[in-house]
Amino acid sequence: MTYFTDLYIGGEWRPGSEGRRFPVIDPSDGSEIALFAAATESDCLAAVAAAEGAQEEWGATSPRRRSEILRRAYEILTEERERFAEIMVRENGKAFPDALAEADYAKEFFRWFAEEAVRIPGEYRLSPSGDKNIVVTRQPIGVSLLITPWNFPAAMATRKLAPALAAGCTTILKPARETPLTAAYVVDVLQRAGVPNGVVNLVTPIPTGPLIKKMLDHHAVRKVSFTGSTEVGRELLRGAAETVVSASMELGGNAPVIVLPGADIDLTIKGSILAKMRNGGSACTAANRFYVHSSLHGDFVARMKSALADFQVGPGLDRSNTLGALVSVAERDKVAALVQTAQDEGASVELGGNSIGGGAYYQPTLLVDVQHGSTINRTEIFGPVTAVTAYEDVNEAIRMANDTEFGLMAYVFGPDAEARRTSLKLDAGMVAVNRGVLSDPAAPFGGMKQSGLGREGSSEGILEFLEEKYIALNVD
Ligand code: NAD
Repeated sequence: MTYFTDLYIGGEWRPGSEGRRFPVIDPSDGSEIALFAAATESDCLAAVAAAEGAQEEWGATSPRRRSEILRRAYEILTEERERFAEIMVRENGKAFPDALAEADYAKEFFRWFAEEAVRIPGEYRLSPSGDKNIVVTRQPIGVSLLITPWNFPAAMATRKLAPALAAGCTTILKPARETPLTAAYVVDVLQRAGVPNGVVNLVTPIPTGPLIKKMLDHHAVRKVSFTGSTEVGRELLRGAAETVVSASMELGGNAPVIVLPGADIDLTIKGSILAKMRNGGSACTAANRFYVHSSLHGDFVARMKSALADFQVGPGLDRSNTLGALVSVAERDKVAALVQTAQDEGASVELGGNSIGGGAYYQPTLLVDVQHGSTINRTEIFGPVTAVTAYEDVNEAIRMANDTEFGLMAYVFGPDAEARRTSLKLDAGMVAVNRGVLSDPAAPFGGMKQSGLGREGSSEGILEFLEEKYIALNVD
């Protein structure tokens, strides 16, 4: 398979100005897949200049035209689904079914925002005093810097590119260093779909932080939309403050799962496996802490153990495997260290608990007797490890679930009325009730507390890239 391995600036693929490259590694075996261009400061500023140069014309392009380009990108991704998935598997290590699911999810943002591009709302009304008409219109915020993580290399890019382009903003996409090939492919798709030169640019700056700061400091950049860790999000927010750049932040999670008394155990296990093991556990929405009522604890542990043991671990390109590699040996070692610490803090291993050689693999793992407040409960695991704590009192489970600085996602399994009541008490931007997955381009995705600012998807996603303008008109 051939990959795009250059920067994309002003409608041209080009190597970095100093000719430096960095390796992209296949985590399933540690081999080098490609050498990707490293962007220098002058490349980053050239990308900003290209986006700035294209902003006026793209902002003035008709919504219908922008919509049609996005729709075409959706169609190309539909036609090239397998190739799209394969690129993700190669550089990210995920299992093929996870990559196909991401390919399907990622392309939907192009379809959804193709539909939203032509429905940007405005207002026209009489002021209460009757002296004027209040007109509220929306215009593109301007050049937007889009920074994405490695865990969903396609969907996190399309979830930002689609609303930005629909709104009429020009963009600079900065993918994670581990997964630039998927981002470069998406950029190529947009070019083929008809995005004009300069409207989408791709850079992979090294060193990352200082060069991103240079772009943020540029007067033309008016938006930063970031998905990644809370730690880096904080740094970007500090940087954005200096030039008062609008910031949307999709940050880390620490999703609790509450299994209520009377929960349907089949539904609970099916949903819990999805919530935990989708994308190999490397999801900001992944179930991180399971609080299971003591009446169901024994059954839950036995059934989860058996379901986890059914996972077939191995290279994602082998389609019979259902759990691929983590993105790197370093990430795998982080997971291994967390499991060790959990044991040191009193947890017992019911299943797994070891790395697997030959690639960045970790066994599906089940921990029980996890102490609430232990390290593994306070850290995003980002791997295939299920950590279970038994509880007696539902109010206590809710208190433990909310006892975190994160507030992205939570899950509740239980009888309908009680599960709904519990969902209202959880401090999370998203709650899945009796189901293991909820992401949908048509629904608002985002977190409370230190999990983020703003929402992606839904009708709100496009508003993050639009600036409101109030115009006062005389009545007569
Ligand atoms: P990360 O924060 O390390 O990196 C994310 C991006 O930021 C990458 O492109 C990286 O190169 C870049 N970056 C690194 N240092 C930077 C700096 N100093 N300034 C600016 N950019 C910098 O995150 P990751 O390890 O790639 O991804 C995992 C994290 O992402 C997890 O915490 C996960 O919860 C989070 N995530 C959140 C969501 C969400 O929607 N809330 C979705 C997916 C992942």
